[in-house]
Amino acid sequence: MGKLIKEKEEKGRLHIDTPMLGESLVSKEFLKRTEAKEYFRMHPDVNILKIGGQSIMDRGSKAIMPILDALIDAKDRHKMLLMTGGGTRARHVYNIGVDLGMPTGVLSKLGDKVSWQNAEMLSVLLAKHGGVKIGHGDHLEQLNMYCKLGYLPITFGVPPYGFFEHPAEHGSIPPHRTDSGAFLLAENIGAKSLIYLKDEKGLYEKDPKKVPEEKRDTLKYWDRISTTELLELDPDDLVVERPVIQLLHRAKCLEQLQIIDALRHPEHIEAALNGEHVGTIIYKG
Ligand code: ADP
Ligand code: MG
Repeated sequence: MGKLIKEKEEKGRLHIDTPMLGESLVSKEFLKRTEAKEYFRMHPDVNILKIGGQSIMDRGSKAIMPILDALIDAKDRHKMLLMTGGGTRARHVYNIGVDLGMPTGVLSKLGDKVSWQNAEMLSVLLAKHGGVKIGHGDHLEQLNMYCKLGYLPITFGVPPYGFFEHPAEHGSIPPHRTDSGAFLLAENIGAKSLIYLKDEKGLYEKDPKKVPEEKRDTLKYWDRISTTELLELDPDDLVVERPVIQLLHRAKCLEQLQIIDALRHPEHIEAALNGEHVGTIIYKG
């Protein structure tokens, strides 16, 4: 794109001559020319950790406390933003909404409060260690400052679509929930890494919880998989929300994400923050 040229008419009125003048901002050819050589990254040292609602928070103290200990321990070595999932209470409110025939955007507005409650709980539990709950407004530009001052910022994972949520491909559950929110934020702040803390070590050919225990060892497991391969496979069920794969495929900053079993292995949090490969890495390609 050319430079923005400001000219003043003889009468002194300001004209802004921009190469985008007269463009509809729809043309594919035009849009391709808006690609940056390198995208600006606001928080390149900050790691985004999404703490599962169903997989971690809903399991209560036994699951949560060892994870918090690992996070408190890692805080002085790694800059982090914690983001929370919804879980069973979100599923319950979606179920009532679906029963009432509520549209996707209404369900989105109902579910985000649960993720908010989980962020509130974490901020209370971490308060004396610098845990501070922040919203999706101006505080996100200040993440680096929070981390430098020794705080541990926490926010809820649901992206702010609300009544503007996209129609779902299948059914009515909002497609962009907390996995998608964590992805979108990580991508747009140019985060260092994106780590999903769940109760499985990553991606299997099918949901291991729906396979009898004695047969789980026979399931195919990917420790690395590209977005292209995963989009082609298009499995019926996935360990992260489906839009995350498509979004990563188009990402400008994030190259990969990692899903770890933080339930059985809280020590994998520090390992993943150190860039170690302890779960499934899904990479753009
Ligand atoms: P969160 O608590 O982070 O929202 P979810 O419960 O929504 O996590 O998603 C993680 C769960 O996805 C896992 O606990 C697992 O039971 C399930 N799952 C579904 N499909 C797969 C798959 N192909 N591989 C691994 N886990 C899967
Ligand atoms: Mg989920």
